[in-house]
Amino acid sequence: MTSKKLNQFLNENLEDLKEKGLYNDIDTVEGANGPVIKLDGKELINLSSNNYLGLATDERLKEVAVEAVQSHGVGAGAVRTINGTLDLHIELEKKIAEFKGTEAAISYQSGFNCNMAAISGVMDKNDAILSDELNHASIIDGCRLSRAKIIRFNHSDMNDLRAKAKEAVESGQYNKIMVITDGVFSMDGDVADLPGIVEIAEEFDLITYVDDAHGSGVLGKGAGTVKHFGLQDKVDLQMGTLSKAIGVIGGYVAGNQNLIDWLKVRSRPFLFSTAVTPADVAACTKAIDLLMESTDLQNKMWENSKYLKDGLKKLGFDIGNSETPITPCIIGEEKTTQQFSKRLYEEGVYAKSIVFPTVPRGTGRVRNMPTAAHTKEMLDQALAVYEKIGKEFNII
Ligand SMILES: *Cc1c(COP(=O)(O)O)cnc(C)c1O
Repeated sequence: MTSKKLNQFLNENLEDLKEKGLYNDIDTVEGANGPVIKLDGKELINLSSNNYLGLATDERLKEVAVEAVQSHGVGAGAVRTINGTLDLHIELEKKIAEFKGTEAAISYQSGFNCNMAAISGVMDKNDAILSDELNHASIIDGCRLSRAKIIRFNHSDMNDLRAKAKEAVESGQYNKIMVITDGVFSMDGDVADLPGIVEIAEEFDLITYVDDAHGSGVLGKGAGTVKHFGLQDKVDLQMGTLSKAIGVIGGYVAGNQNLIDWLKVRSRPFLFSTAVTPADVAACTKAIDLLMESTDLQNKMWENSKYLKDGLKKLGFDIGNSETPITPCIIGEEKTTQQFSKRLYEEGVYAKSIVFPTVPRGTGRVRNMPTAAHTKEMLDQALAVYEKIGKEFNII
């Protein structure tokens, strides 16, 4: 017998979502998530992955992953603190610290899991966290899990941050206070004002935490937004993922040795969830090696993103104020945005629509993620489709 309450809950809510047009039918990619993908047997230019550097399908990463399976097997066998810490994990963590310019680093199973782990590992119910209002869901959940008081500040508004930091300090209510921000905001592609944040943090002795999921591999010659601003000695926790530009899976925090020692004994997903597989870890280490050896892939990605942005702008589209490869094409009204994305699909371009409540009402956009793996021909083809649909919708 199954629960009547549960069945009723599921039926009602699924129906409600479908009625409101908010139910998401998830697409299945047939094969690899490269610059061109196949869905329902149809080939599409892929402008939706976070695979910034094309490393998800890189031959050099595939090779070390296969070697790691041969030498270490398919699973790590245990959580990190029992005996799931393999030599491969230690090698990866040393490499991350070197790349980020910190004393040490700790790796986790995902970026999401890392934010759960690290925020609640450091903060507790006697503390407060100042959080940018546009921070990623995993930051919000990590903050909630810590049970610290969450104080939202207006997006990238340093006056608001300073006022709220001052108020929190002067209240005398909190033991520790943290300021937490995305390094690059994923919906608009704008970069956090880290120099401003660090200045305020120094003034009020705040703990600084930067989630660089979209900055790592992209800014600072690949090392991220913190290094981009030369602030690696001023940011306490540099968090990042190994699943976007790095192309594989996992998350990490880079920081000083004491911090990492503490997280290794206190962050719960590290203690209670099995370590990442040998193949994934080996591939991540190889990816960072490649980024440290050369900026060829980053250069290609920036070149491609400039090409796509210039092309869309020249056609007359509003592409917002992105400072990174993330290229929103702002359409406006929610339904129109969804129809626009659907027409792109029909014409062979895969670019997802993002609408309220993910972004403010009336600013629906199609988000494009050009990567190092795209060719000029693919981008030209995508631009031609954009021109056709833009005219069809009377947007350009
Ligand atoms: C994608 C993302 C994460 C989650 O990383 P995963 O490795 O995919 O779990 C965390 N923070 C931000 C800002 C992200 O964009």
